[in-house]
Amino acid sequence: MSLIEKYAAYLPVTPDTPIVSLSEGDTPLLPAPRLSELVGAKVFLKFEGANPTGSFKDRGMTLAVSKAVESGATAIICASTGNTAASAAAYAARAGLRCIVVLPEGKVALGKLAHVSHCGAEVATVRGNFDQALEVVRFLSDEYGLELVNSVNPFRIEGQATGAYEVVDALSDAPAYQAMPVGNAGNITAYWKGYQRYREAGRSQRLPVMLGFQAAGAAPIVAGHPIENPETVASAIRIGNPASWKEAETARDESGGLIEAVTDEEILSAYRLLASREGVFCEPASAAGVAGILKLAAKQFFSPEDSVVCILTGHGLKDPDSALASAPEPLLLDADGPSVARALKL
Ligand SMILES: *Cc1c(COP(=O)(O)O)cnc(C)c1O
Repeated sequence: MSLIEKYAAYLPVTPDTPIVSLSEGDTPLLPAPRLSELVGAKVFLKFEGANPTGSFKDRGMTLAVSKAVESGATAIICASTGNTAASAAAYAARAGLRCIVVLPEGKVALGKLAHVSHCGAEVATVRGNFDQALEVVRFLSDEYGLELVNSVNPFRIEGQATGAYEVVDALSDAPAYQAMPVGNAGNITAYWKGYQRYREAGRSQRLPVMLGFQAAGAAPIVAGHPIENPETVASAIRIGNPASWKEAETARDESGGLIEAVTDEEILSAYRLLASREGVFCEPASAAGVAGILKLAAKQFFSPEDSVVCILTGHGLKDPDSALASAPEPLLLDADGPSVARALKL
């Protein structure tokens, strides 16, 4: 079933809304035993890499594109660090819409670029960063009537709120804490809205404390001012002036949570730990939330009975360069059993 059908009662749709779906959502919530031990709490991983285009962006895009079709739009446009573009390209292809994406030059991971072009989107790369690309698409959308599908589109946020519904459905209540990366800050906004709405509907008893993490080189909310030249290995959160800045602060403050920074080193260390100790391959940005809870755990932040859900926002295959950069060179050996055995010290 499509995400929109499943959660129709909580989404701005009518029976007449045309549903553009690739069967998104319903992603696994995995218990993480090794991480739980390290953190000193019950840690779960919401693996959003299992969405059709490999990131949580599909939750918002199915709704944004469905509503675009409903309103008679023929073209959509977005700026992107990669995953929004991949998702927009795929849902536009599904709907038969023209799709234009504006990307910051040289800053988009390989798997995302491949996905966008392969789905037939028109790609404009601009000399600038994500924030500047977003300015460009806001202009094009205003001037030329293209449907903007960045997370400034309220339907993106509404659709992404389904992540919170799934977490509550899986745990029979909201977790004590939710940890996640913060880039343009649409997702933390969406989850907080989702948790609130679900509790108002009587589907949960409590609300989680929201823990957001930015990369240290791209941490405007932590710094309290925009960052002109954001830099981080976690390209999906390389954003210096988040569109949903205020809403992220609201989520933080209303939930009694925090938004802090983690270094690239901490992000990469969590990224490797997730793969090598839990078998879960996410992209670097997705590991920021895990890096954050490991950092908090060092200060005895959690109690053993606390449930902590980490949103792993995107699939590791999106960014093969980052994975290979820290992997050892594979052995190259003669194709004969005994010498392979010797090399492997069997
Ligand atoms: C988009 C994205 C983020 C950041 O989400 P925001 O809503 O922009 O805060 C984090 N991780 C991945 C993999 C993403 O694609």
